[in-house]
Amino acid sequence: MKIIRLEVGEIGTNCYLLCDEAARLAAVIDPGGDSERILDALRETGCSAQMILLTHGHFDHTGAVAAVAMATGAKIYAHEEELRLLLSPAASMQSSFMGGPFTPIVPDAALHDGDTLTLGALTMSILYTPGHTHGSCCILCGSVLFTGDTVFQGDIGRTDLPTASRTEMKASVTRIAALEGDYTLYPGHGPASTLANERENNVYMR
Ligand SMILES: [Zn+2]
Repeated sequence: MKIIRLEVGEIGTNCYLLCDEAARLAAVIDPGGDSERILDALRETGCSAQMILLTHGHFDHTGAVAAVAMATGAKIYAHEEELRLLLSPAASMQSSFMGGPFTPIVPDAALHDGDTLTLGALTMSILYTPGHTHGSCCILCGSVLFTGDTVFQGDIGRTDLPTASRTEMKASVTRIAALEGDYTLYPGHGPASTLANERENNVYMR
């Protein structure tokens, strides 16, 4: 398993390439912008993108979805509760942050809590973690957890945007904190962390 982090788009969103190098397959998590850079990085891995996984539907996580899907044929996945937001320039925050033309995103498949996806020899499972948006999810793969805008190093995501909920966020963060053992956390913004570190230092986990 190889993970490449690319900081993309105007506000610096983490896009991750999750690769099974032996199978030469990749998943692109949150292609938020800079599609050419993402495609170049993909080419360098020698892997072909089989899937695009969205932790949630904010524009800064989805800006390059259409271009990457078009170039690679990768299938798009998002949580079922996020489908409405993916069609909305207002709820996706595109209209207030960026303006300009809006491309609605229609996933090829909807994700549900506990779903598993296979990428070569890798198995990913979906953790439904509403709060930052109602359809936010985290993606577990081995000892790695992609947390989107739910948990950051020392912080959590905003809960003041459309479809967000403080109550849901609290429950989701508690659920993540209660996972057994330790994980490397790859958030939607900022540096990586570990779950052990966040349990100890993130005030929202205490
Ligand atoms: Zn967000």
